[in-house]
Amino acid sequence: MTGYQLKGSFPLIFERGAPGRRGYRLPPLDVPEQPIEALIPDRHQRTNPPALPEVSEPEAVRHFVGLSRRNYGVDVGFYPLGSCTMKYNPKINEEVAALPGFARLHPYQPEETVQGALELMYNLERYLCEIAGLSRATLQPAAGAHGELLGLMIMRAYHESRGEGHTRREVLVPDSAHGTNPASAAMCGYRVVEVQSNARGGVDVAALRALVGPKTAGLMLTNPNTLGLFEEDILEIARLVHDAGGLLYYDGANANAILGICRPGDMGFDIVHFNLHKTFSTPHGGGGPGSGPIAVREELVPFLPVPTVERDGDRYYLDFDRPQSVGRIKGFYGNFGMMVRAYAYIRTMGAAGLKAASEQAVINANYLMKRLAPLFDVAVDRYCKHEFVLSGRRYKRLGVRTLDIAKRLLDYGIHAPTVYFPLIVEEALMIEPTETETKETLDEFARVMEQIVREIEEDPDLVRNAPHETPVRRLDEARAARQPDLCFCAPASSTVGEVNAGGGGRTDG
Ligand SMILES: *Cc1c(COP(=O)(O)O)cnc(C)c1O
Repeated sequence: MTGYQLKGSFPLIFERGAPGRRGYRLPPLDVPEQPIEALIPDRHQRTNPPALPEVSEPEAVRHFVGLSRRNYGVDVGFYPLGSCTMKYNPKINEEVAALPGFARLHPYQPEETVQGALELMYNLERYLCEIAGLSRATLQPAAGAHGELLGLMIMRAYHESRGEGHTRREVLVPDSAHGTNPASAAMCGYRVVEVQSNARGGVDVAALRALVGPKTAGLMLTNPNTLGLFEEDILEIARLVHDAGGLLYYDGANANAILGICRPGDMGFDIVHFNLHKTFSTPHGGGGPGSGPIAVREELVPFLPVPTVERDGDRYYLDFDRPQSVGRIKGFYGNFGMMVRAYAYIRTMGAAGLKAASEQAVINANYLMKRLAPLFDVAVDRYCKHEFVLSGRRYKRLGVRTLDIAKRLLDYGIHAPTVYFPLIVEEALMIEPTETETKETLDEFARVMEQIVREIEEDPDLVRNAPHETPVRRLDEARAARQPDLCFCAPASSTVGEVNAGGGGRTDG
């Protein structure tokens, strides 16, 4: 029994090893042994030994390396997961984040001893504000959706401060929006009003005009939108919403297309969230942690969560004395390790480098869109920004769905694109190559797609039943989410009891 092969079942670490086996032994004591009762009072002593795996070091290493080989990540291959910006994360970011001066900080350390960390947060806030074209930011939110919730709480606090909190109860969201937008608005207690898209894939301005009014708290928009298209009427849209007394919220998860080229603040947006774990190259997709800072316009600064990071001459400090603040949104100051990585990324790229990255992301997406256009219907035939959306509807008549194509890609060692989103495109395939891929990789992806289309025509069952080469085949995803079986019950002969594996965490980018 090895259990380290790529296919078939993979034992838990609790199923490996043998009672008493150790990976490491301590040398004999060179001081007198103390009775345990002298160190730990009776009532705190455990009665059963902990149910830890008892494995040798090679068993432990093979277990975890084996698991990692059954996983897929951006360090393994192409990951064109639209909307998630699965760009390569430079290793220098990891090295910087692992420096003991950053990695070993304790959040309760006195301010004088963490001046470097505060300086980094202060500067990162300034960079993000410059990129957003806005005044101040907070680094607290732990994800994009968390940033959205905070942005909406600030929107609500702003309207309340003007005595309009109880009348402005509606948040407008386009029908192409990411699902987190309406979800965040609803969580913040708002009524979600959907705005239609027009034939060019943008917001239908006439429809918007009919919907804005004294009940409007704000509009949530991403630009470029989830079709990868730049919102051409953005200035008119901003004017309409502002004239009605509402605010504009920018879902900045798509900022990879715009760095150094245009700024949400200049487009008229009042609140922006960024996903450091997408645009600013911190790892994601493996369950977190993430970071979704938000930046705001001057009038909204008083509502930012506490504490803010402030500077007084050479000294940095945390300011908790902000009476209009919406309060804290996260324990301590946010996911600091993600901030260090994003800071390292921004500093190593520089302003010119960030702009070049966005330009390259857009060129890569347009190149790949043209390569794939003969195979699929392009959702809206325009130049795209950092991503594009195809429709696989022509293969539906042959009984092959977009999901099948996505699964077949896995057999070729390529991560599937985002599928069935945005909802307004039938059989959608949303593809975001990012700037970090070479032309050869894009060509290889196009070649694999051509091959899959040939398979659909010649042997559709091959595609319908894919994947064939992965450690597991098709799973019942709904059941996995609703009835997760996370308990491991050891065989009766084992010394190991029942172990509960913790669940939860992020699933996508
Ligand atoms: C990823 C994404 C979000 C949500 O970000 P999380 O960090 O996953 O919460 C919101 N909007 C868009 C357009 C996204 O792509």
